[in-house]
Amino acid sequence: MMQLQDILFSQGFGTRRICCGLVQQGFVAVGEAKEACTDPLALLPTEDLVFWVQGVRWVYQERAYLMLHKPSGFECSQKPGTYPSVYTLLPGPLRQRGGSAAAGVQAVGRLDQDTTGLLLLSDDGKFIHRMTSPRHHVPKVYEAQVKHPLDDRMTTRLLEGVVLDDDPKPVRAQACTAVSEHLLRMTLTEGKYHQVKRMIAAVGNRVEALHRSAIGPLALSDSLPEGQWRWLTRNEIETLT
Ligand code: URA
Repeated sequence: MMQLQDILFSQGFGTRRICCGLVQQGFVAVGEAKEACTDPLALLPTEDLVFWVQGVRWVYQERAYLMLHKPSGFECSQKPGTYPSVYTLLPGPLRQRGGSAAAGVQAVGRLDQDTTGLLLLSDDGKFIHRMTSPRHHVPKVYEAQVKHPLDDRMTTRLLEGVVLDDDPKPVRAQACTAVSEHLLRMTLTEGKYHQVKRMIAAVGNRVEALHRSAIGPLALSDSLPEGQWRWLTRNEIETLT
Protein backbone atom coordinates (compact mmCIF):
# COMPACT_ATOMS: atom_id res chain seq x y z
CA MET A 1 0.00 0.00 0.00
CA MET A 2 1.24 3.49 -0.76
CA GLN A 3 -0.08 7.01 -0.29
CA LEU A 4 -1.48 8.53 -3.46
CA GLN A 5 0.95 11.47 -3.39
CA ASP A 6 3.87 9.04 -3.09
CA ILE A 7 2.52 6.95 -5.94
CA LEU A 8 2.51 10.00 -8.20
CA PHE A 9 5.97 11.01 -6.97
CA SER A 10 7.40 7.54 -7.70
CA GLN A 11 5.89 7.58 -11.20
CA GLY A 12 7.52 10.89 -12.11
CA PHE A 13 4.77 13.50 -11.68
CA GLY A 14 7.00 15.99 -9.86
CA THR A 15 8.07 16.74 -6.31
CA ARG A 16 5.94 15.47 -3.40
CA ARG A 17 4.59 19.01 -3.04
CA ILE A 18 3.53 19.13 -6.67
CA CYS A 19 2.00 15.63 -6.43
CA CYS A 20 0.12 16.61 -3.27
CA GLY A 21 -1.21 19.68 -5.09
CA LEU A 22 -2.31 17.66 -8.14
CA VAL A 23 -4.42 15.43 -5.89
CA GLN A 24 -5.86 18.27 -3.79
CA GLN A 25 -6.83 20.20 -6.90
CA GLY A 26 -8.85 17.24 -8.20
CA PHE A 27 -6.59 16.37 -11.15
CA VAL A 28 -6.22 12.72 -10.10
CA ALA A 29 -8.68 9.82 -10.34
CA VAL A 30 -8.26 6.17 -9.47
CA GLY A 31 -9.30 2.85 -11.04
CA GLU A 32 -10.84 2.07 -14.42
CA ALA A 33 -14.04 3.75 -13.18
CA LYS A 34 -12.12 7.04 -12.74
CA GLU A 35 -13.13 7.55 -9.12
CA ALA A 36 -12.13 11.03 -7.99
CA CYS A 37 -9.70 11.12 -5.03
CA THR A 38 -8.66 14.40 -3.45
CA ASP A 39 -6.86 12.98 -0.42
CA PRO A 40 -3.09 12.94 -1.09
CA LEU A 41 -2.60 10.56 1.85
CA ALA A 42 -5.17 7.97 0.66
CA LEU A 43 -3.58 4.51 0.92
CA LEU A 44 -3.87 2.40 -2.23
CA PRO A 45 -2.59 -1.03 -3.30
CA THR A 46 -0.07 -0.42 -6.08
CA GLU A 47 -0.37 -3.82 -7.79
CA ASP A 48 -1.93 -3.24 -11.25
CA LEU A 49 -3.17 0.15 -10.03
CA VAL A 50 -4.80 2.22 -12.75
CA PHE A 51 -4.84 5.97 -12.14
CA TRP A 52 -5.57 9.09 -14.14
CA VAL A 53 -3.74 12.39 -14.09
CA GLN A 54 -5.46 15.21 -15.89
CA GLY A 55 -7.44 12.67 -17.90
CA VAL A 56 -4.43 10.57 -18.98
CA ARG A 57 -4.50 6.89 -17.97
CA TRP A 58 -1.47 5.36 -16.23
CA VAL A 59 -0.76 1.96 -14.71
CA TYR A 60 1.59 1.92 -11.71
CA GLN A 61 4.96 0.41 -12.63
CA GLU A 62 7.45 -0.30 -9.86
CA ARG A 63 10.15 -0.32 -12.53
CA ALA A 64 9.76 0.98 -16.07
CA TYR A 65 10.60 -1.23 -19.07
CA LEU A 66 9.57 0.01 -22.47
CA MET A 67 10.28 -0.30 -26.16
CA LEU A 68 10.53 2.69 -28.46
CA HIS A 69 10.40 2.53 -32.25
CA LYS A 70 13.28 4.92 -32.81
CA PRO A 71 12.96 7.14 -35.86
CA SER A 72 15.95 8.42 -37.81
CA GLY A 73 17.23 11.87 -36.79
CA PHE A 74 17.23 11.38 -33.00
CA GLU A 75 20.24 10.93 -30.71
CA CYS A 76 20.24 8.40 -27.87
CA SER A 77 21.67 10.95 -25.49
CA GLN A 78 20.29 13.10 -22.67
CA LYS A 79 22.45 15.94 -23.95
CA PRO A 80 22.33 15.64 -27.73
CA GLY A 81 24.80 17.53 -29.90
CA THR A 82 23.02 18.04 -33.23
CA TYR A 83 19.71 16.18 -33.36
CA PRO A 84 16.88 16.07 -30.82
CA SER A 85 17.11 13.48 -28.07
CA VAL A 86 15.06 10.25 -28.17
CA TYR A 87 13.97 11.18 -24.64
CA THR A 88 11.86 14.00 -26.11
CA LEU A 89 9.67 11.25 -27.62
CA LEU A 90 8.63 10.13 -24.11
CA PRO A 91 6.10 11.75 -21.80
CA GLY A 92 7.53 13.88 -18.97
CA PRO A 93 6.81 11.43 -16.11
CA LEU A 94 8.94 8.73 -17.75
CA ARG A 95 11.85 11.16 -17.89
CA GLN A 96 11.42 12.17 -14.24
CA ARG A 97 10.70 8.86 -12.51
CA GLY A 98 12.64 8.52 -9.28
CA GLY A 99 12.91 12.28 -8.77
CA SER A 100 16.72 12.60 -8.48
CA ALA A 101 18.99 14.50 -10.88
CA ALA A 102 19.83 11.27 -12.73
CA ALA A 103 16.19 10.27 -12.83
CA GLY A 104 14.03 8.74 -15.49
CA VAL A 105 14.39 5.88 -17.89
CA GLN A 106 17.70 5.37 -19.68
CA ALA A 107 18.31 3.88 -23.12
CA VAL A 108 19.59 0.29 -22.99
CA GLY A 109 22.63 0.86 -25.21
CA ARG A 110 22.63 3.33 -28.07
CA LEU A 111 21.67 3.51 -31.71
CA ASP A 112 23.21 6.01 -34.12
CA GLN A 113 21.09 9.06 -34.91
CA ASP A 114 20.30 7.69 -38.39
CA THR A 115 19.49 4.13 -37.21
CA THR A 116 15.83 3.22 -36.78
CA GLY A 117 14.13 0.43 -34.85
CA LEU A 118 14.00 -1.24 -31.49
CA LEU A 119 15.34 0.73 -28.53
CA LEU A 120 14.69 -0.49 -25.00
CA LEU A 121 14.53 1.96 -22.11
CA SER A 122 14.35 1.27 -18.40
CA ASP A 123 15.03 2.68 -14.95
CA ASP A 124 16.24 -0.72 -13.69
CA GLY A 125 20.03 -0.42 -13.50
CA LYS A 126 20.57 -4.19 -13.15
CA PHE A 127 18.46 -4.85 -16.25
CA ILE A 128 20.35 -2.21 -18.26
CA HIS A 129 23.66 -3.66 -17.15
CA ARG A 130 22.65 -7.21 -17.99
CA MET A 131 21.37 -6.26 -21.44
CA THR A 132 24.45 -4.19 -22.34
CA SER A 133 27.25 -6.10 -20.63
CA PRO A 134 29.59 -7.67 -23.22
CA ARG A 135 29.76 -10.77 -20.98
CA HIS A 136 26.12 -11.59 -21.58
CA HIS A 137 26.26 -11.60 -25.40
CA VAL A 138 22.63 -10.59 -25.87
CA PRO A 139 22.02 -11.01 -29.63
CA LYS A 140 20.76 -8.02 -31.59
CA VAL A 141 19.33 -8.32 -35.08
CA TYR A 142 19.95 -5.57 -37.63
CA GLU A 143 18.74 -5.06 -41.18
CA ALA A 144 21.18 -3.08 -43.28
CA GLN A 145 20.37 -1.59 -46.66
CA VAL A 146 23.69 -1.61 -48.50
CA LYS A 147 25.05 0.35 -51.45
CA HIS A 148 26.69 -2.45 -53.48
CA PRO A 149 25.13 -5.83 -54.37
CA LEU A 150 25.79 -8.47 -51.74
CA ASP A 151 27.67 -11.64 -52.56
CA ASP A 152 28.51 -14.86 -50.70
CA ARG A 153 32.07 -13.72 -50.10
CA MET A 154 30.86 -10.75 -48.05
CA THR A 155 28.48 -12.76 -45.88
CA THR A 156 31.12 -15.47 -45.35
CA ARG A 157 33.70 -12.90 -44.26
CA LEU A 158 31.22 -11.28 -41.85
CA LEU A 159 30.54 -14.71 -40.33
CA GLU A 160 34.21 -15.66 -40.14
CA GLY A 161 35.27 -12.33 -38.63
CA VAL A 162 36.69 -9.00 -39.73
CA VAL A 163 39.24 -6.78 -38.02
CA LEU A 164 38.12 -3.24 -37.17
CA ASP A 165 40.52 -0.33 -36.78
CA ASP A 166 40.38 -0.10 -32.96
CA ASP A 167 41.02 -3.75 -31.99
CA PRO A 168 43.18 -6.46 -33.52
CA LYS A 169 40.72 -9.13 -32.35
CA PRO A 170 38.31 -9.99 -35.18
CA VAL A 171 34.59 -9.43 -34.67
CA ARG A 172 32.10 -11.75 -36.28
CA ALA A 173 28.40 -11.86 -36.94
CA GLN A 174 26.56 -14.66 -35.15
CA ALA A 175 24.25 -14.90 -38.18
CA CYS A 176 24.27 -13.14 -41.52
CA THR A 177 21.93 -13.56 -44.48
CA ALA A 178 21.42 -11.65 -47.69
CA VAL A 179 17.65 -11.13 -47.69
CA SER A 180 17.88 -9.53 -51.13
CA GLU A 181 20.60 -8.10 -53.32
CA HIS A 182 20.88 -4.95 -51.19
CA LEU A 183 19.45 -6.04 -47.84
CA LEU A 184 21.53 -7.83 -45.23
CA ARG A 185 20.19 -9.29 -41.98
CA MET A 186 22.90 -9.62 -39.37
CA THR A 187 22.94 -10.74 -35.73
CA LEU A 188 25.62 -9.34 -33.42
CA THR A 189 26.37 -10.28 -29.84
CA GLU A 190 28.64 -7.33 -29.08
CA GLY A 191 27.94 -3.60 -29.19
CA LYS A 192 31.02 -1.81 -30.46
CA TYR A 193 30.78 1.76 -31.71
CA HIS A 194 29.19 1.84 -35.22
CA GLN A 195 29.79 -1.91 -35.34
CA VAL A 196 27.43 -2.84 -38.18
CA LYS A 197 28.55 0.06 -40.36
CA ARG A 198 32.24 -0.64 -39.72
CA MET A 199 31.93 -4.40 -40.31
CA ILE A 200 30.12 -3.86 -43.59
CA ALA A 201 32.69 -1.24 -44.62
CA ALA A 202 35.44 -3.78 -43.79
CA VAL A 203 34.06 -6.13 -46.49
CA GLY A 204 33.98 -3.34 -49.08
CA ASN A 205 30.33 -2.33 -48.88
CA ARG A 206 28.50 0.62 -47.32
CA VAL A 207 25.42 0.90 -45.10
CA GLU A 208 22.84 3.28 -46.51
CA ALA A 209 20.12 2.63 -43.93
CA LEU A 210 20.16 0.63 -40.72
CA HIS A 211 17.30 -0.78 -38.67
CA ARG A 212 17.34 -2.88 -35.47
CA SER A 213 14.50 -5.39 -35.51
CA ALA A 214 15.14 -7.51 -32.40
CA ILE A 215 17.03 -7.77 -29.12
CA GLY A 216 17.29 -11.32 -27.78
CA PRO A 217 13.82 -12.92 -28.04
CA LEU A 218 12.08 -9.55 -28.31
CA ALA A 219 11.14 -8.23 -31.77
CA LEU A 220 9.99 -4.70 -32.50
CA SER A 221 6.17 -4.78 -32.63
CA ASP A 222 4.84 -4.40 -36.19
CA SER A 223 1.99 -2.33 -34.82
CA LEU A 224 4.25 0.24 -33.14
CA PRO A 225 4.69 3.26 -35.46
CA GLU A 226 8.01 5.14 -35.62
CA GLY A 227 8.35 7.57 -32.75
CA GLN A 228 5.91 5.65 -30.52
CA TRP A 229 6.63 3.65 -27.38
CA ARG A 230 4.87 1.00 -25.31
CA TRP A 231 5.39 -0.76 -21.98
CA LEU A 232 6.91 -4.24 -22.15
CA THR A 233 4.60 -6.94 -20.84
CA ARG A 234 5.58 -8.98 -17.78
CA ASN A 235 6.14 -11.94 -20.04
CA GLU A 236 8.48 -9.96 -22.32
CA ILE A 237 10.51 -8.70 -19.34
CA GLU A 238 10.83 -12.27 -18.06
CA THR A 239 12.03 -13.60 -21.42
CA LEU A 240 14.74 -10.91 -21.50
CA THR A 241 16.03 -11.47 -17.96
N1 URA B 1 25.84 -0.60 -35.46
C1 URA B 1 25.94 0.60 -36.08
O1 URA B 1 26.80 0.81 -36.92
N2 URA B 1 25.05 1.55 -35.75
C2 URA B 1 24.04 1.37 -34.86
O2 URA B 1 23.24 2.28 -34.62
C3 URA B 1 23.95 0.12 -34.24
C4 URA B 1 24.87 -0.85 -34.55
